[in-house]
Amino acid sequence: MAWENWSGAQQFPEAELTPLPSEAAVQRWLAAPQGSGVRRVVGAGHSFSPLWGAGEALGSLEGLDGVVLEDGQLWLGAGQRLADLGPKLAAHGLALANQGDIDRQSLAGALATGTHGTGWALPSLAAMVTGMRLVDGEGQIHVLTGPETLDGTRIHLGLLGVVTALALRLRPAYGLAERNAKVPFEALFEGNHARFRSQRHGEFWWIPASDETIFKQLREIPLGGSARLDPLPFGGVGERWGPAWQIFPSDRDARFNEMEYSVPLEAGPACFRELRQALLKDFPKLPWPVEYRIVAGDRGWLSPTQGQRVAAISVHQDARRPYGPLFDRVEPIFRAFGGRPHWGKRFSLDRAAFDDCYGENLERFRALRRRWDPEGRFLTAGLAPIFGDAADA
Ligand SMILES: Cc1cc2nc3c(=O)[nH]c(=O)nc-3n(C[C@H](O)[C@H](O)[C@H](O)COP(=O)(O)OP(=O)(O)OC[C@H]3O[C@@H](n4cnc5c(N)ncnc54)[C@H](O)[C@@H]3O)c2cc1C
Repeated sequence: MAWENWSGAQQFPEAELTPLPSEAAVQRWLAAPQGSGVRRVVGAGHSFSPLWGAGEALGSLEGLDGVVLEDGQLWLGAGQRLADLGPKLAAHGLALANQGDIDRQSLAGALATGTHGTGWALPSLAAMVTGMRLVDGEGQIHVLTGPETLDGTRIHLGLLGVVTALALRLRPAYGLAERNAKVPFEALFEGNHARFRSQRHGEFWWIPASDETIFKQLREIPLGGSARLDPLPFGGVGERWGPAWQIFPSDRDARFNEMEYSVPLEAGPACFRELRQALLKDFPKLPWPVEYRIVAGDRGWLSPTQGQRVAAISVHQDARRPYGPLFDRVEPIFRAFGGRPHWGKRFSLDRAAFDDCYGENLERFRALRRRWDPEGRFLTAGLAPIFGDAADA
């Protein structure tokens, strides 16, 4: 059976996807010989980075989609889609504190690469993990709790084992009102990002072909309430409201490839201005937006924030066109402003550049990976140069 990722840039015509509907099935799958020996769990395949390789055995946890209340703690099956989780949490009067642009990802897959939304005080979803059940490369089950332990495993790219269930810091269910407006981007940087600070969620999209900026705001409202929205300063583009899990996601029907870097927030405006100049000069007709979001810092070893509040800036290219020329043009700009790449999106950094980005934290993660997966069962061809032994890079 053929398998490809969402953008279609990675295709494996020979791939077989083994259903893994239980933890015991995961253990059996790990114990049995598999093709090249390397195996990988697939979430919803929405990552753009080379997390899979030809000849590797692929497993799917799609059937692991329960929500179980145990000693006052909700354990969420790792394979369920975020879209399905929203109503299940709502049935318990609970909700995720933040979400990204879409809700098609699997829970474990989204967390594994550091998926985030936007929000001055809101870190990535992985930073909200309070418990994790994981089967390591030797088939051992780990039940991980406590912030310090979890900091090592929050973002893991599937390199530490197969995650079967997760517990998250949740909050009482709430509503959101969304409003989109055209705003000159320089106005959004004024007062140290004052317009972002005053919103629960703020982000903007800038489109090179039109040189227009749309500012999107999400404001918390009572559940079931409608929004009384303030007058729009620069002309409104659209408004809607409802339960948070329905308002966070948007439709992304047109396929694209994406590169995203997180730069320290203070560097965000200068990085964006340089990016804009480069795109207006070299890609003036690009109809795909550049997205600018803010993510609060967290202490996860592989968190691109490395504890600091960041501007996460992303660039998109139509999936039917080559993305190399665009991404090669913008990546050095991101790096010059101290950026770290999103683990689920395109990047071309080598081992030395990742060492530079993550220092000691990357070495600690490599040591944990060696301990839990000594045979390198999860060390795929694309990730081995970064996470394997230095001699193999
Ligand atoms: C249209 C679109 C919109 C997006 N919007 C955002 C956004 O707003 N914010 C953002 O930060 N990112 C965004 N992304 C990126 C996306 O959220 C990440 O790439 C995410 O990791 C994809 O989740 P997935 O379930 O598809 O996982 P996959 O891409 O299938 O897998 C990701 C990684 O997780 C591993 N994995 C999956 N399940 C398990 C498990 N149970 N145990 C161990 N390892 C596992 C896989 O092996 C792989 O290494 C977007 C992507 C697309 C295509």
